Amino acid sequence: MSHSIEEIAPGVACAHGKIVNFYYVGEPGGPWVLVDTGMPLGAPSIIRTAEERFGKDSRPEAIVLTHAHFDHVGAVRALAEHWDVPVYVHAMELPFVTGRADYPPFDPTVGGFFPALSRTFPEKGIDLGDRVRLLPGSGPVDIMPGWDIHHTPGHAPGHVSFFRASDGVLIVGDAFITMDTDSFRDTMTQKPEITRPPSYATCDWDAARDSVQRLASLRPKVVGTGHGRPLSGPTVADDLETLARTFHRPAHGRYVNQPARFDQNGVVSLPPAVPDPVPAIAAGVGAAALAGVAIAAVRRHQAEMDLEDEDE
Ligand SMILES: [Zn+2]
Ligand SMILES: [Zn+2]
Repeated sequence: MSHSIEEIAPGVACAHGKIVNFYYVGEPGGPWVLVDTGMPLGAPSIIRTAEERFGKDSRPEAIVLTHAHFDHVGAVRALAEHWDVPVYVHAMELPFVTGRADYPPFDPTVGGFFPALSRTFPEKGIDLGDRVRLLPGSGPVDIMPGWDIHHTPGHAPGHVSFFRASDGVLIVGDAFITMDTDSFRDTMTQKPEITRPPSYATCDWDAARDSVQRLASLRPKVVGTGHGRPLSGPTVADDLETLARTFHRPAHGRYVNQPARFDQNGVVSLPPAVPDPVPAIAAGVGAAALAGVAIAAVRRHQAEMDLEDEDE
């Protein structure tokens, strides 16, 4: 199977994975890059979709990561090896893709749907060895002509977003998202809503707010997020500005009042752990069951949305 893809702007296609999106950036017939890689086991579908879009045996110039959480790097190793291409990250994300560090523990105690599932999510870093290359800290990106990079930390220390000023297209990974993954119902229905980054994995809320404010000041016309449907239209910039103005952190949780701190080798310090009232085994079994239900429901919903799109 190939992924369902949605053209969100000229030369920018959003691929809808099961719960995470990634982006083919580049015009068919020309050079292109893949921004993020979705969940593990997705590589065959990503390759097939790429060949449908860019031609048989086509390969990108590079894979570019907004950040290296497990749901954005799942297929990265298989893809980088298949295509024999480099993988670009921000310097502050380097320790998590070179085997030097793991992410801080995710925080189920912020409460909500994905946070409950996060008890089973892996924080472990990966090691891509000498395939890794560094993105610039700001300004133009050589391998993505026409795009500027913006360092948007908070959700992850080396999180970056990409903006194409010529037509206002913004690819943001998880700096903000367009569905409320804290809500079971909104996740199931993928109700479109510009909202704060996924709460269980955001470990510096001041930085996350500052990042959203800087992205809002770009006044984007199209936004492509890691979770939720891409959005476009006259209200997008105002809706993002509203999020920036009313940005609120979760009511409680490990990182809410004190951030995790990082340097170029990984985690430097963590706030004290908050006791998790759910026993580990029960949490694991429950979360695995919930994840199965969620993935099936999201798949069904996406299939319905795709049918609707075809009807239009
Ligand atoms: Zn993330
Ligand atoms: Zn994510």
